[in-house]
Amino acid sequence: MEHLSSSPAKARRHFRLPVWLWPIALVMIVGYGWWWNVHRSIPLSEALSPVYWYKRFLGEDLYDPHYRILYHGNRALHEVALTIDDGPHPQYCPSLLAILRHYHVHATFFVVGQRMKQCPYLVQDMLADGNEVGNHTVDHIRLVTLNNEEIWHEINDNDINFYRITGHHMTVMRPPGVDYNPRVLKITKELGYVVVSWTCAAKDYDEQTPDFIVNRILDRTENGSIILLHDDRPETVVALPRIISALLRQGYHFVTIAQMLAHLPHPVIIQSN
Ligand SMILES: [Zn+2]
Repeated sequence: MEHLSSSPAKARRHFRLPVWLWPIALVMIVGYGWWWNVHRSIPLSEALSPVYWYKRFLGEDLYDPHYRILYHGNRALHEVALTIDDGPHPQYCPSLLAILRHYHVHATFFVVGQRMKQCPYLVQDMLADGNEVGNHTVDHIRLVTLNNEEIWHEINDNDINFYRITGHHMTVMRPPGVDYNPRVLKITKELGYVVVSWTCAAKDYDEQTPDFIVNRILDRTENGSIILLHDDRPETVVALPRIISALLRQGYHFVTIAQMLAHLPHPVIIQSN
């Protein structure tokens, strides 16, 4: 009996990791997360989460059909979506539009209502060039800090003004700061929007050099990436042609968010504006 009861204890001791290996194991696990974060634009917390990898295995990491959220494009297609937020700013937006025109690529602009009212002609130019325009609220306030009625107005009033200017409605939206909760998502869904997240950000809302912006985006771009840039920085204007030409050389196709949704493994068809 003594002999039998001692066996499991021996077996447990056999599998115990030596203490000196723990720091090495920790460095390897965090290093693995860091690699996915830098080269495949997956947040560190997700790269280290078994739940994320299980969802990815099931194919549920690209789009949430319940709340209608796009997280990532199709990983089997060599395509990316360029999204440009917070405009239109008259200092830089015309240059960004000229660059897109020059390379014959389309982007999705998430416009702020207050700016759109000041420069409606730029929003018309975006559409005339074949770009997509999405809703980034009237005042660019974090929606989670507002009550339901305020959230509803922040989103819907922007669309009413957009319709007055262009004769079209917006069908995709990005909450300011991509900051949302179930309460916000319930309203965006009621209003018929697809909420659009991002996968590669240049942090160009801070002052960054064009080199930093270009390298950060190119390091993190993969099939189905949603690239996030802003339209209020001269550095972004310098970086954009370098990003587009490098990705075109790598064979990437540029798609709008509506096209990216239609290209998902389980396609989501929306009316683009
Ligand atoms: Zn924004």
